[in-house]
Amino acid sequence: MDKPFRPATRLLRAGRPHRGWVNTPVTRASTYVFDSVQAWRDTRARREEERLPSYGARGTDSTHALEDALVELEAGHRAKLYPTGQAAIATVLLAYLRAGDHVLLTDAVYEPVRRFCAEHLSRLGIEYTYYRPDATGIAALIRPNTRMIYAESPGSLTYEMPDLPGLAERARRHDCWLAVDNTWASGLLYKPLTLGADISILAATKYLGGHADVMMGAVVTNARAWRALERATIDLGQTVGADDAFLVLRGMRSLPLRMAQHARSALRVADWLLGRQEVARVLCPALPGDPSHAIWKRDCSGANGLLTVEFSGEFGEADVERLIDSLRLFGIGASWGGFESLVIPVRLDTSRSLPDTGRRGVMARLHIGLEDPEDLIADLEHALSALSPVSRPL
Ligand SMILES: *Cc1c(COP(=O)(O)O)cnc(C)c1O
Repeated sequence: MDKPFRPATRLLRAGRPHRGWVNTPVTRASTYVFDSVQAWRDTRARREEERLPSYGARGTDSTHALEDALVELEAGHRAKLYPTGQAAIATVLLAYLRAGDHVLLTDAVYEPVRRFCAEHLSRLGIEYTYYRPDATGIAALIRPNTRMIYAESPGSLTYEMPDLPGLAERARRHDCWLAVDNTWASGLLYKPLTLGADISILAATKYLGGHADVMMGAVVTNARAWRALERATIDLGQTVGADDAFLVLRGMRSLPLRMAQHARSALRVADWLLGRQEVARVLCPALPGDPSHAIWKRDCSGANGLLTVEFSGEFGEADVERLIDSLRLFGIGASWGGFESLVIPVRLDTSRSLPDTGRRGVMARLHIGLEDPEDLIADLEHALSALSPVSRPL
């Protein structure tokens, strides 16, 4: 028997036509017409269970091709696409939770999700509690009405990783869903569904698109979780355009190559930063001293371009803002996962509900892009020297 192809090979073949054009042509479409009333009726009866062309909002060849590639990447059952990562998250919360339910959310959740919970879950009578990003102490927070554990691994800004197989076991015992925001790994470096999660959420805006030119979200589920997601997605009118699906699928072909380079450069920059006296810590689970390093090593197959730098106690917010302003190769802006380097100041006091146990100084998040890392280091060196007065003791 033939050996199964390795992941990089499978990713290059996923979601492609079996013959003819190498890429699935872009199908911009709303209406699909049928040969007869019987064929129309037949499709409408079957489309809940099968993926058939029936109406533009339910998908075209272009979106189906991307869904296939994402299912391959995440080793899932089926996938749905959304106009943003945030829309994907909102749909997941609405699909599986109803009035009277309770959801446990990581305190390192992507920040806009917090307002969605405060404004919309509350309004719908759905309770929520934040748990520590490494999931310690979660057992005491589970209630009889807990219907979902929502994780993000590694978490936003500080990259804590919970023991996902342990969380999955807990969720199964309690008969509740385990949903994971898998944007950090973008499906490539970490496989929540194979570690026991039911639902994996991706901001394809980040590394999947990879070129800072498209917004998209995706959700991949196992077989058990599929039906509720598909129905909610259709009821909420969530869909994406064919051109955007084409761009994300094109980005995915070079995902392993780009990710490996982002990681190589980020680790090179992290090494250099750790040798600077202005830097107290560099947060990144791939670094040996990181609190999540052991879990990262066990559950992930690589790293990405994200680093959060914690500055020494002597530096205040204004110093760090000055440093950020003086960087030339790092754009100041939201998102990450494109080809370019980015930076933002980080404030945990406004983006967390639980007290942060690790004492942290002022921080900045870097996205290490595909520029030559030596140029990025030179840029950081120049900015850091402007920060530290020359008279400072060595
Ligand atoms: C960026 C991001 C999102 C949201 O993606 P958008 O496409 O910008 O809405 C969700 N989760 C995580 C972890 C992210 O970093």
